[in-house]
Amino acid sequence: MAKKNRIDISRRRFLKAGALATGALAVPSVARGTAQVRGTAPPNRIDREVMSCCQFCQVRCTTLVQVKDEKVVNVYGNPANTWTKGGMCPKGQSLVELAYSPHRLLYPLKREGTEWKRISYAAALDIVAEKILKVREEFPEDYARRVALFAPLWESHESEIVAQMALWMAGFPEICSSGDTCIGNSATALRLCLGGALSTTTVDEALNAQTLVLWGANIAETYPPYIRWIDSAREKGVQVVYVDPRRTPTTNHSDRQIMPRPGTDGALILGLIRVLITEQLYDREYVARHVNGFKELAASADSYTPEKVSRITWVPQEKIVELARMLAKSKRTIIWMGGSLSRVTNAIQTVRAVVALQALTANLSGPGKGIMNMQGGKPGGLEILEEKIRARELRETLQEKFQARDLAGALGFRKVLFGMLQKRVKVLLLNSSYRRYPDANRVRTGIQNVDFVVYRGFFMDEEAQLAHLIIPGTMAFESSGSQYGAQRQVVWRNRAVPPPGETVEDWRFYSDLGKKINKEAFPPVNNPEEIFELVRKNAPTWTGLTLERLKKDPTGISWPCPAEGHPGTLGTLYPDNRFWTDDRKVQLSTPALGPIEWAEPEGSPFGESAEAKAFPLIFTQGKVVQHWQHTYTRWSAYMAQFSEGNYVQVNPQTASGLGLKDGDWAYLETELGKIKARLHLSELILPGVVWTPSYPGGSTPVKENSGVSINTIIPGNWDKVSAQYNGFGCRLTKA
Ligand code: SF4
Repeated sequence: MAKKNRIDISRRRFLKAGALATGALAVPSVARGTAQVRGTAPPNRIDREVMSCCQFCQVRCTTLVQVKDEKVVNVYGNPANTWTKGGMCPKGQSLVELAYSPHRLLYPLKREGTEWKRISYAAALDIVAEKILKVREEFPEDYARRVALFAPLWESHESEIVAQMALWMAGFPEICSSGDTCIGNSATALRLCLGGALSTTTVDEALNAQTLVLWGANIAETYPPYIRWIDSAREKGVQVVYVDPRRTPTTNHSDRQIMPRPGTDGALILGLIRVLITEQLYDREYVARHVNGFKELAASADSYTPEKVSRITWVPQEKIVELARMLAKSKRTIIWMGGSLSRVTNAIQTVRAVVALQALTANLSGPGKGIMNMQGGKPGGLEILEEKIRARELRETLQEKFQARDLAGALGFRKVLFGMLQKRVKVLLLNSSYRRYPDANRVRTGIQNVDFVVYRGFFMDEEAQLAHLIIPGTMAFESSGSQYGAQRQVVWRNRAVPPPGETVEDWRFYSDLGKKINKEAFPPVNNPEEIFELVRKNAPTWTGLTLERLKKDPTGISWPCPAEGHPGTLGTLYPDNRFWTDDRKVQLSTPALGPIEWAEPEGSPFGESAEAKAFPLIFTQGKVVQHWQHTYTRWSAYMAQFSEGNYVQVNPQTASGLGLKDGDWAYLETELGKIKARLHLSELILPGVVWTPSYPGGSTPVKENSGVSINTIIPGNWDKVSAQYNGFGCRLTKA
């Protein structure tokens, strides 16, 4: 059926917009040649080839980097990688151009009035250490919240570890993790229900499944090298169900698609659960043996009749019942959750409902069963360090502060933002984009209140413009270290070429800083290998991940890997349905969260708020295959051929009443403000829904990649752990 729908149209149009201007239901394809870049330079034209990996997404493609005269001339996917078989996407390929960009910052810069003055790395490091230590001196009773770091440090796992050690050991706990804007909600829900914040299986198990549900997971665009697993599964007869309010390139790789209104997935799942329970289609024996909280779930799901769920989700009743019966019949089902499930204000409840659905059909553990998150979860070492330091705070937050919406009581980024707005934060280590947060202009205002901002970036972008000191970082080919991926795998990246100018690796900067501010208390680590070993020796789940093995392995080793010689753990994380909870059962009852329910997303025009009704369309946003969020791929001219700045995709029905036609400029407006965007009319998206890509941003000299950050108009609403990016109200007017 999906094959019937496949229509090839111009590469540029598909890749640029993921949409069609015509009214036809043709589905965009991510051209295979673009999504899975391969190719080598002839061996006689290079000096060496180095095993490496991409530093963008968690597919974590391992690569081979070709070097000539100490310069990278080519990168291609490592064909020996089991997960990717040599696949890559254009983002990874763009790293060659980005590394040699004429716009790249190569030396530390100190702001002096309106000028930037070049200084040495040693001088820059001294300034940072001095500023941090001065905070402790000036505020001896109250210094902890006055120094903060915006993670992630995506150069390597070692960088994250030493940055955490450097600040935490000096008494500064405020590290804003990427989970705040990403999968923090879904990871938390998995942890609460199953004991581990991780995918419960790996993608190879799709081949053993009977049904694979891609719930909001647009794999073809976000994780293109994994499409081959989906295609192989379908060739074996696995039914692929895709749940997404837009038809996307992933539609071409699915057997059926369900299109719910954004932000209503939780209601849809509760509707499915109700059908399973009322029609006695669930596995009673499994539930009795392995699940706590079934009664509460049944009581909660009872009101989610097909009529009600259809009204909420816009999915026809018969499709809801049909899907529930299909899932009941499927003996082996994997649900692969997209990042969007985590980016709404009812995310934790929705992911709890996903766990409940899989529990009722006995599909949490075993071959061809499980739940995959868009990211596999953090490795044991980091979790252990985090647990030791943050356990008390996290527990308090989960148990007591879930209802707290006030910024002062919140965890992580929201607390830092509050501190910045109150002018309490004195030093900020800006290691990533502030524009990834909702209400980004407010975040910018907060950062402008900080006395001293250090930026660890690559270009003179929006973050650099807020900094007092810039210490440029190294890019992927210029540093070594481990990184982890969606298959719980750890891979090792070898340095291919030396850092250019006076750029400095994250691991080196934070080790140097740690030694300066913690003196001899800081571990005497001098390279990524020593940092890696420090973690491995403290993390029982990593014992078998020796450097010797990792450096040779083109695929990476999936943890848990508890002993040397252990092959690593693929497939199910919970053999025999023994979960990592206290009593080893699935916990569907968490008193602090109440019953599993669905709530209208904050700011939805269908909610209670009268103001929200002024914004009658539903806002959604997302990634495109060519850009890594709103980060530095915007500086790639190669990517520009696929970009066009701010645009919106809407159904012709949506536009017809507004006097808008395809190609018009329109204002996309939310309660926070508006941006100007080109209109793409397409039947591929539900009427009433607006979709826009997340990559545009200012400051880049590449005009096609340039635009206004959409996060400047996304209101700052949060679920318990991470922020909302979808499901609230917006409107379109002619510009
Ligand atoms: S961005 Fe992801 S899919 Fe693309 S090359 Fe990098 S790791 Fe692979």
